[in-house]
Amino acid sequence: MGFRTDQIHSGVTPDPTSGAILTPIHQSTTFVQPSVDEYMATGYSYSRSANPTVTALQDRLTILEEGVGSAAFASGMAATNAVFLALLGAGDHAVVSDVAYGGTYRLADKVFTRFGVDFTFADTSDPQAVQEAINDRTRLIFTETPANPTLKYTDIAAVSALAASSGIVHAVDNTFLTPYFQRPLTLGADLVVHSTTKYFDGHNATVGGAVIGRTEELMEQIAFVQNAAGLIMSPMVAWLTMQGSKTLAHRIEQQSANAMAVAHYLEAHPKVAKVVYPGLPSFPQHRLATEQASGYGAMAWFEVEGGLEAGKKLMGSLRVWTLAENLGSVESLITHPVTMTHADVEEHERRRVGITDGLVRISVGLEEVEDLIEDLDQGLNRL
Ligand SMILES: *Cc1c(COP(=O)(O)O)cnc(C)c1O
Repeated sequence: MGFRTDQIHSGVTPDPTSGAILTPIHQSTTFVQPSVDEYMATGYSYSRSANPTVTALQDRLTILEEGVGSAAFASGMAATNAVFLALLGAGDHAVVSDVAYGGTYRLADKVFTRFGVDFTFADTSDPQAVQEAINDRTRLIFTETPANPTLKYTDIAAVSALAASSGIVHAVDNTFLTPYFQRPLTLGADLVVHSTTKYFDGHNATVGGAVIGRTEELMEQIAFVQNAAGLIMSPMVAWLTMQGSKTLAHRIEQQSANAMAVAHYLEAHPKVAKVVYPGLPSFPQHRLATEQASGYGAMAWFEVEGGLEAGKKLMGSLRVWTLAENLGSVESLITHPVTMTHADVEEHERRRVGITDGLVRISVGLEEVEDLIEDLDQGLNRL
């Protein structure tokens, strides 16, 4: 079936007891066993291990990402944590994109290094740099593309081929483009990670995450830590995410069109020093962005003339755009990564990868694009 059909119907069957069209919220800790001999006959025993509402969402995610299985988590970070826990142990090494969600860097650098895991934060946009970062202890290559917040792209097929030739697992954080625009598993990646908080939910209502895999073997390892470490998503969040995901394609398609219009507007404004949006021909990796995915997404960033102070003034003067962390929602959001999402990334590391003090990140929502542009216009014209 097509994506727009699967996003609505996959994972759901009418409830046999009532005919309810939506999978019920199975808000139950435990599941009654028919008899000792038939333990787990229904497939369910305790909601930390598995829950029918969560299973419905997992089935949908598996289909949308074209995987063989998936596991849903309490947050995007719980999903990344599950990948690290499943694949890394003392003495192991992992390569992580040098530009990535701030929490990914923090989990690697501040938590897993304490357990004897080594990381190299490499420029994964350059397959040669990935090759050079690999050693005989490397078990995992974790890339994020496009990356938060600079939007640097990694060539998924090239890095997957390189990982496969060394027997290393390649996991891709696909939060920014979603499977509607980009399917890493079809390009050779082994695992896909999502913060479902973002586009799958889309309505600023939940925090959740997921891992989708290309092989049963990997998914068994992921499901094992989902249960062992207690990282599973709650039934209520799974249900809300099912509801939100029914319009994923429609939302991200329109949000991307809005982002393109906003990027064109910003590029022409004299107070704007720099605009970065993958759909603009000026984007350094425009060709890879066009070839690897079927859309450019709805994330962009810019710098205004006058640096940090001017940027702060602009962010304080907007009425339609909301100053908040998060992205991918129907509400247009504006963020200052240095003080907000990436505050835990050390200054020299931020500088090295291009997260400047004046960088303003925008997540373009579903409002009338004219209103979004007018609001930016009144703010910029005051600078
Ligand atoms: C938000 C985000 C995460 C973390 O997800 P949470 O749901 O906030 O834990 C991971 N990766 C990317 C790219 C993100 O934007």
